[in-house]
Amino acid sequence: MILVMGGAGYIGSHTVKHLIQNGYEVVVADNLCSGHKQAVQNAHFEIADLLNPQSIDAVFKKYKIDTVIHFAAFLSVGESVENPAKYYRNNVVGTLNLLDTMIANNVKNIVFSSTAAVFGNPQYTPIDEAHPTSPINPYGQTKLMIEKIFADYRRAYGLNYIALRYFNASGCSSDATIGESHNPETHLIPLVLKAINGERENIKIFGTDYDTPDGTCIRDYIHVEDLATAHRLAIEHINEYSGEINLGTSKGTSVKEIIEIAENITGKKCPVVFTERRAGDPAILCASNQKAYKVLGWKPTKSMKDIIETAWKWEQNKKF
Ligand code: UDP
Repeated sequence: MILVMGGAGYIGSHTVKHLIQNGYEVVVADNLCSGHKQAVQNAHFEIADLLNPQSIDAVFKKYKIDTVIHFAAFLSVGESVENPAKYYRNNVVGTLNLLDTMIANNVKNIVFSSTAAVFGNPQYTPIDEAHPTSPINPYGQTKLMIEKIFADYRRAYGLNYIALRYFNASGCSSDATIGESHNPETHLIPLVLKAINGERENIKIFGTDYDTPDGTCIRDYIHVEDLATAHRLAIEHINEYSGEINLGTSKGTSVKEIIEIAENITGKKCPVVFTERRAGDPAILCASNQKAYKVLGWKPTKSMKDIIETAWKWEQNKKF
């Protein structure tokens, strides 16, 4: 049985769906502070909170868990700068509680939701795993600290771990039954589609004077279903490899290009306002995915068009 902590969230719920389609038995544990119960399909479900170790222990006592996939974390960069205590407590202390409960119950395998934010401002691109880690906000710090804790727990307690560092997770389930739903929404693609849909007045482009061909930031958008596959492969390779793996397409797309593709797919105009740069945004973030291929045999399969088509389908017919 796989335990998915935070399986009611965006990437977690898509991973749960993929695992079940591939014959795994799954229990989701989530405190539903930002996740959606409706996003959990065909899995066992338990309410548990990482800051309440007894509630996690109860899940380990009730089910026979082999491996944990851990998504349960706060993820807003801006909020982490304003309220670092909330981030260090929930993300770092919460993960320690989870790890200690795992060890106490003799469960040694964990796949972790890490982030490109561990790198901070890139020194070169595409970013491989040898790139120095130097987060520029508390959110990225929490994820990097957790990666270091894993390495120490491996040495001391024999933990097997794979930390998957996602670049820009995006898109929705191909059957549009689950999708991205954050409150508040801060991510580019859903905001562009909401502007096209008339749910928002416009999309603000944060900076047009970057050193990129069209002056807007370039990011590596990776379909959430490709990420889900990577988590399954990580489970399947957890006894052979422990460490960090970057997940992206290694192809960059600019903010202006995203808007153009979205306009083509929807056949509608996106109302755009040009504004100042957002603090902490590097010009270009792209992942090398060579290690993901070497270690996991993983390759992204979805295009930018697939990402925006599935996100648009979801946007028009959101279930939660
Ligand atoms: N962005 C933007 N307007 C928005 C939200 C995002 O121009 O309303 C830009 C942002 O500056 C970045 C890219 O879109 O270059 C992706 O941002 P997002 O917040 O989706 O993901 P991040 O790269 O911060 O993880």
